[in-house]
Amino acid sequence: MSDLLSLSGLRTQFDTKRGAVKAVDGVDLTVEEGETVGLVGESGSGKSVTALSAMDLVDDPGDVVAGRVSLRSAALATDLAAEFDDAVVPYPFELVDAVRELVADLRSGQGGDLAGPELRGIATDLAAHDDPSDLAPALQTAADRLDDGTAQSVIADDLEDTLEDADNGFVYVDGAAREQLESGVDADEIAVEDGVIDLTDAPEEAMRKVRGSEMGMIFQDPMTSLNPAVTVGEQVAESLRLHQYGERKRDTWLNAVREILPSIRENEHDEEVMEDVVEILTEVGIPEATTRLEEYPHEFSGGMRQRVLIAIALACRPSLLIADEPTTALDVTIQAQILDLIDDLQEEFGMSVLMITHDLGVVAETCDRVAVMYAGEIVEEGPVEEIFSDPSHPYTYTLLESIPTEEKDRLTPIEGNVPDLIDMPDGCHFADRCPWAQPECREGEIPFRQHGPDDVDHRAKCLFNSFDKDEYGNDGVASATDHEIGEPLVELRKMRKYYQQEDGILDRFIDEQPSVKAVDGVSFDIHEGETLGLVGESGCGKSTAGRAILHLNRPTDGTVVFAGDNLGDLSKSELRERRKDMQMVFQDPMSSLDPRMTVGKTIMEPLKIHGLPETDPDVVTRADVSTAGISPDAVSVDVADNVDALLGSTDGETVVPVTVTVADGDVTVDVEGALGVTTDVTRDNGRITSVHVDISAGDSKRILRRRRVMQLLEEVGLDAGQYGRYPHELSGGQRQRVGIARALAVDPDFIVADEPVSALDVSVQAQIINLLEDLQDEFGLTYLFIAHDLSVVRHISDRVAVMYLGEIVEVADTDELFAEPKHPYTNALLSAIPEPDPLTATDDRTILKGDVPSPIDPPSGCHFRTRCPSIIPPEDLDIQQERYREVMFYRQRVEARDIDLEAAKERTPEETPSPRAVTDGGNDFAAALDAQFFDGPLSGRAREAVDESYRHLADGDWEAAEAALADTFESVCERTDPTLADGAHPAACHLFNPSE
Ligand code: SF4
Ligand code: SF4
Repeated sequence: MSDLLSLSGLRTQFDTKRGAVKAVDGVDLTVEEGETVGLVGESGSGKSVTALSAMDLVDDPGDVVAGRVSLRSAALATDLAAEFDDAVVPYPFELVDAVRELVADLRSGQGGDLAGPELRGIATDLAAHDDPSDLAPALQTAADRLDDGTAQSVIADDLEDTLEDADNGFVYVDGAAREQLESGVDADEIAVEDGVIDLTDAPEEAMRKVRGSEMGMIFQDPMTSLNPAVTVGEQVAESLRLHQYGERKRDTWLNAVREILPSIRENEHDEEVMEDVVEILTEVGIPEATTRLEEYPHEFSGGMRQRVLIAIALACRPSLLIADEPTTALDVTIQAQILDLIDDLQEEFGMSVLMITHDLGVVAETCDRVAVMYAGEIVEEGPVEEIFSDPSHPYTYTLLESIPTEEKDRLTPIEGNVPDLIDMPDGCHFADRCPWAQPECREGEIPFRQHGPDDVDHRAKCLFNSFDKDEYGNDGVASATDHEIGEPLVELRKMRKYYQQEDGILDRFIDEQPSVKAVDGVSFDIHEGETLGLVGESGCGKSTAGRAILHLNRPTDGTVVFAGDNLGDLSKSELRERRKDMQMVFQDPMSSLDPRMTVGKTIMEPLKIHGLPETDPDVVTRADVSTAGISPDAVSVDVADNVDALLGSTDGETVVPVTVTVADGDVTVDVEGALGVTTDVTRDNGRITSVHVDISAGDSKRILRRRRVMQLLEEVGLDAGQYGRYPHELSGGQRQRVGIARALAVDPDFIVADEPVSALDVSVQAQIINLLEDLQDEFGLTYLFIAHDLSVVRHISDRVAVMYLGEIVEVADTDELFAEPKHPYTNALLSAIPEPDPLTATDDRTILKGDVPSPIDPPSGCHFRTRCPSIIPPEDLDIQQERYREVMFYRQRVEARDIDLEAAKERTPEETPSPRAVTDGGNDFAAALDAQFFDGPLSGRAREAVDESYRHLADGDWEAAEAALADTFESVCERTDPTLADGAHPAACHLFNPSE
């Protein structure tokens, strides 16, 4: 393999009022032909900016200030040499690259004694070549000046000027092609067998050819990346046209992105381009692509939109695909589909992939090599197995340790945040968070060290060869998994939440629109002190269920009983009062916090709404005093009655721990919580004779609330100094802590946490999960934990409920559910979890096809039947399970009238290798459909019924085809909706509750 993409010494900065943000700070990285390289790290580590820099798509005020990006492609070098005057550099790439490296070494003061001999060596090599810019004498002179003691930085500057004169092109070609040029052959006639494009020196017009032809990019969010006003077909077509005729001038990042993501233009649907578009869309798994060309992105599901983006990126068969968090916005099931697709396409087209992700499971499953980024630098790089089995940089190790796994009772987060990229610390960028940091780590340049066997390229940027992993993670805090679970606190019975679809106000009166059945009759209990995980794909109704339980959106039907109260029976004011005990923590702390309110005001708001904190006149308050350096008899403590408003009470009593210490004539009083403390010290001839301490909660509500907020800040691990900060001044993890503090402010019993960690990096996620567990232990909280990340759910939940299309399909204790899932949907969800271990086999993974159907018109019977791999065939039909599933997919398409019959009639047998013989030697409609829908042959009654349906379709009679299929294939799964039985581990599936 040889390097396809190479980044060396890459630095990208963004100018801001506060100074330059060093987003990429000297990155060296290569991607070889056919290889998948993962680029991982927390948000803000510089991964995406590295990718944008490689594509020359960094927008103002950003700029690539140093370093090189080069791409190897003989075809592109041939094209660019022919198209651009003086594009070819008359020197070998390796030679110029070597001089550049020496320049970088000299500039950093590391050139030393070796630079002189190396410069002379390169000059000697050059003597055998054509040297039109007199590079050899210049290198010789530089070496002589080094011997004379001229400053290295001065020589570096001069050499750089010389290089600029010598390589003012941007295309490097092999020696034979250079010789042809030297002998007078025109640039558009030379034969290039090996070529490298220097992307940092290439003009914008050349970069347009590179982007979308040799380099494709997939972005994270398909909805914002696609143009909503342009049809899908046109967007893919535009990518093809741009590759050939692109003329748009690049002036902004957005324009540059639009070179890949096309914009509106006149309909120039020439047949050939659209044929290519259909082929590409089919390749990325979009069924009936011909009929979907005219659809707009909003008519596609999230997974399908991501397929369209992949189609755009691959339209011109690039040799390198840069995938920037390609599955982050997707469910685990759709993620599995997309990763599988990228893998297949990579195999088919032999392309390389640079996979940028924060998900270490995705890296473990997809990558050959991994580069770990931290604060703009690559800190470790190596083969994926080495990185996961022997992480050699403390950052990589601590990042891997933050991942929730089955074995870990308590997670070990990385404390602190990524440093300010404007004001980076000296020495190791990770030092402030590194548990093994030593004083010497905070100065000078940290070198890379080789790890593992010599023949393995595994390097880490750390001063030390090893660190003591045994010491890590023993923070002395016990696991919070053994909390007590009591009686049911929340009881749901047949809860429904339907939304009416209305196009306009008239629709309400004229025509009743169908309902969206977001939650369709769910029943379960949540016990006191328990964490119930609620999982399922997006659109399954999890969040709606959470809000309906709290009556933030009143359920359409059914009951929710909370602590014995039927919430549906409560008046508005009674419900408001009850809400104190039931709070919600939201997914996106940035959008759920008011940007104009300080942290203090945000947390205080619910206290004001509910007139809290309140004191209970029946509660007795007292101090638990310990002393040092003074007799206990000389110490007296008074605790105000209203302290219980801040600290709460147990068994009618609030106890305040107080420590009074006397040393060297000074008195120190320690009191837990944000209480008011005044101390009176009596002295006799300088000797302390007595100490009196008054402890107060605050005389006014204002002070009381302020103290309560301070106490909450402490409880969720925030500094008192953050009281006056605004949300934008906080990190994601800090914002989520504020959200939790706000929920805790009113002292609730029950919290619905709706995807509380899904917007956070794995290291911060671990902090928040630990916090939620600690708070549960301390305050006996009950959680409904809604999440799509099953590893997190497994870690935090006592029981798990699985939801699909508005219904609960399985409930069980967490360990049992993960060890022995019953419902085929649960099975598929668990099977799709990416394993953060490259050695785990994933070949037998169940990859669900298709998306969650519309909740407006869910499938009859079992809602999961349209995707279920285990759907039950009729008892009297002899058919393999796999074939039956294929028949059901085919039936669904017939029922939706979603088969392009004309296209099937035109497909030739060569285009459609069919599992059965073509009968008439030419096009066989049946063979074409068989090839489209079946991977193996059908037999007996199944064969006859499918053939009959083909005959009807050939005549255009959809209804008859549908009827023929229904007669033979209708299954119990579509006739009867399976019910969720009672018991410890029920599953709503006919495989477990036969109902016919
Ligand atoms: S150089 Fe020092 S601070 Fe940096 S990762 Fe290594 S041990 Fe930690
Ligand atoms: S009832 Fe049928 S379709 Fe539904 S999950 Fe069970 S086997 Fe699958």
